[in-house]
Amino acid sequence: MFKKILIANRGDIAIRILRTCKEMGIKSVAVHSLIDESLMHVKLADESVCIGPNRSSESYLNISAILSAAELTNADAIHPGVGFLSENEKFAKMVSEHGMKFIGPDPKHLAQMGDKIVAKKTMADLGIPVVKGSDGEVKSAEEAKEIAKTSGYPVLFKAASGGGGKGMKVANSPEEIDNAFKMAKSEAKANFGDDSVYMERYLSHPRHIEIQIIADSFGNVVHLGERDCSIQRNHQKLFEESPSVALTPEKRQEIGEIVRNAVRNLGYVGVGTLEFLYENGEFFFMEMNTRLQVEHSVSEQITGIDIVKEQIRIASGEKLSIKQENIQFKGHAIEFRINAEHPETFVPSPGKIEELYFPGGNGVRIDSHIYRNYVIPPYYDSLIAKVIISAEDRDSCLAKARQALDELVIDGVYTTTDLHRKLVRNKDILAGDFDIHWLENNLRSL
Ligand code: ADP
Repeated sequence: MFKKILIANRGDIAIRILRTCKEMGIKSVAVHSLIDESLMHVKLADESVCIGPNRSSESYLNISAILSAAELTNADAIHPGVGFLSENEKFAKMVSEHGMKFIGPDPKHLAQMGDKIVAKKTMADLGIPVVKGSDGEVKSAEEAKEIAKTSGYPVLFKAASGGGGKGMKVANSPEEIDNAFKMAKSEAKANFGDDSVYMERYLSHPRHIEIQIIADSFGNVVHLGERDCSIQRNHQKLFEESPSVALTPEKRQEIGEIVRNAVRNLGYVGVGTLEFLYENGEFFFMEMNTRLQVEHSVSEQITGIDIVKEQIRIASGEKLSIKQENIQFKGHAIEFRINAEHPETFVPSPGKIEELYFPGGNGVRIDSHIYRNYVIPPYYDSLIAKVIISAEDRDSCLAKARQALDELVIDGVYTTTDLHRKLVRNKDILAGDFDIHWLENNLRSL
């Protein structure tokens, strides 16, 4: 087992990881930008190293600074967390070249799944159902129009190197193709430095259902069921729950087995998530995230499994400590992402937290790094807290969530708290009657 892990991340996820390190008796090293010097993950870690100025490109994405920090502190492994370098093939390679273990999959799988065109083709070959669309990159608007003749409208252009919902454009008719194609390409270029795009049929009422997997290097793969992440804004998740009201135990079992087989045949090692759209009882693969995800905690709550602990154990060469037949899905869990942003426009709202009170009690888990008088910097993601509620069933979970969200106080900045308070009282949400477009269609009337 590792003796010391450097956590190449910040905020709530860095704390999440270092808590498990402490439980496992592993020393932790925090890294931080100048402005993050007094952040909680820095205070809680055994050691810390400043890796550069505030902009992520000069700190949390600064590979050489992070590697130097790891060498300086004698870390034997690096946990990349979520976002930043977590899916960066070059970083993963360099970590092992420097004699340390990258806590994540093999670089070859990062590369394969990082290119969404390759990912889709690979998964289709492994028996995973995918959305209809172009076979690979779409090179021209004319080609797109040809493909759409058979796939049908509307269609969606997506960036091959995409992420975070960026670089996606819908076209409802042949007339809209030229513009959508051009815009998707330029957005892809601006955000990912790669302008290749591909095309999919745009599904009108799907849910976003994803399957969490954990695989060790001995060919053992387990799935931890699904998460329903259909409540999104700008194609980004805001509210995630497990189980999904849309799945029966049979459907869960069926997709779970398909995914386990595919992951085993891929030879993948680590934690990962396969994201699907789900419409009329059919699954359509979108992408695989080859890392820990923000919403992993929802699955932890209903299975009782510490996903980070398994991830660290597997990376150190140990066997999975769990078998599929022993995994039980108990009760219901929902994660509410509290972002420092305007609840209607979703524009980030950095600034000082003047007042703070976190709810508590049975079934209330808060993963957060903020404290009273903390100043949220404008440089990073706007996620400031995750409120994760669990209870014996969905109705009780929503009732508990209403109470917890009402108790939550974060003053000084705009947050998504009020939006969540409305969601947990909305009749469609209570009935479980929504798809990925629901929030955008209902935001005004909430
Ligand atoms: P990213 O990596 O940018 O998050 P995804 O491929 O995961 O991109 O898609 C993000 C979101 O975009 C999905 O959760 C879904 O809401 C929407 N989306 C993606 N593909 C389609 C599609 N073919 N039809 C309808 N919505 C889609």
